[in-house]
Amino acid sequence: MRDTELYRHLLGLVAPWEVSRVELSVDGGRVDVWVEHPKRTRFACPECGTELPVYDHAEERAWRHLDSCAFLTYLHARPPRVECPTHGVRQASLPWAEPMSRFTMLFERLAIDVLKECDVEGASRLLRLSWDEAWHLMDRAVARGLAAKPHVVPAKIGVDEKAAGRGQDYITVVSNLETGCVEYLADERRQASLDGFFEKFSAEERKGIEAVAMDMWDPYINSTRDHLDKADDKIVFDRYHLMKYMTGAVDTVRKQENRALAAGGDKSLTGTKYLWLYSEENLPERHRDRFASLRGGDLKTARAWAIKESLRHLWSYKRRGWGEKHWKRWYFWATHSRLQPVIDAARTLKRHEAGLMSYFAHRVSNAGAEGLNSRIQAIRVSARGYRNREHFKTAIWFHLGGLQLYPATP
Ligand SMILES: [Zn+2]
Repeated sequence: MRDTELYRHLLGLVAPWEVSRVELSVDGGRVDVWVEHPKRTRFACPECGTELPVYDHAEERAWRHLDSCAFLTYLHARPPRVECPTHGVRQASLPWAEPMSRFTMLFERLAIDVLKECDVEGASRLLRLSWDEAWHLMDRAVARGLAAKPHVVPAKIGVDEKAAGRGQDYITVVSNLETGCVEYLADERRQASLDGFFEKFSAEERKGIEAVAMDMWDPYINSTRDHLDKADDKIVFDRYHLMKYMTGAVDTVRKQENRALAAGGDKSLTGTKYLWLYSEENLPERHRDRFASLRGGDLKTARAWAIKESLRHLWSYKRRGWGEKHWKRWYFWATHSRLQPVIDAARTLKRHEAGLMSYFAHRVSNAGAEGLNSRIQAIRVSARGYRNREHFKTAIWFHLGGLQLYPATP
């Protein structure tokens, strides 16, 4: 078999395209393949499909293709142009590459598979691409996926903010709590950041949104109220975020009490910070005895801790009625504890009571997307070199968007 014929098969070229020349550079570790079409071939206008004679050819271009046995392989051709009476002079579409790509579709598919398994640095090493080329491939894959993403209203969503870089740089992430996929990304964590998600849908479509899990964050609350009917029945404050308020209150009580005790020479609370922050069942075995004696003592911190643990049980009730009873008893207890940080935390929760109780209607939390959170975190960690927020967003879409990333191959 002649080398040109061999490459026609390897490249999967179909008529009218043929391999005209193959050059192997052993020293350069590369193979260059030129493809041509016979004279008088007709090509279709890419807009309307009308078959037309060749008008002229664009400059020769090269596309990176799958390696030939570790030899970098490039496809070369002069793309034919047609002159359509309706659409003017246009470049005919090529069967091996998407418009504007520097890679063949088969190479893009391989690159997407490798990028899925590695970080960008690893993938560019394996694929022998530059950093920018790897990003170019990822951007294209995401753009392709977003263009093909079906327009479907998710019924249960989680809204979360994520630190994107150093300091106060955030992005807003909307996830589908049922599929675990990212539905929407926006810069910042403002009201407008979330507005953009709701405004992708008509008012009629937005009726399909049943529940919105989020932190107690006013911009998100306001945006949801602006766009959904009966928003307060649909907003569910994330239980982990609510618990953070109580855990913070316990810690403040401990700090104050420790200071007071230490002034009198009593060091029993020193070095106990983390013991009080664990959920009861997660306390490591080695700390159990010490913690039991601290808990049993007459410490304010122990009382604050007991109130925190009691709040945690709220989410274990099956029925809203029981949950409400527990909440009322708990609120009375917390606000009569004479522990100011606990009272403050309880009042904050009280102001957001509707979003606390709506849990019993929807039973969602961003923890449903917990897997998603840790994966976004992992992307961020492996993204030390992402250099900017756009790359971070591209990587989230690429890995977590549930998108159809591949180019269609003939
Ligand atoms: Zn046309």
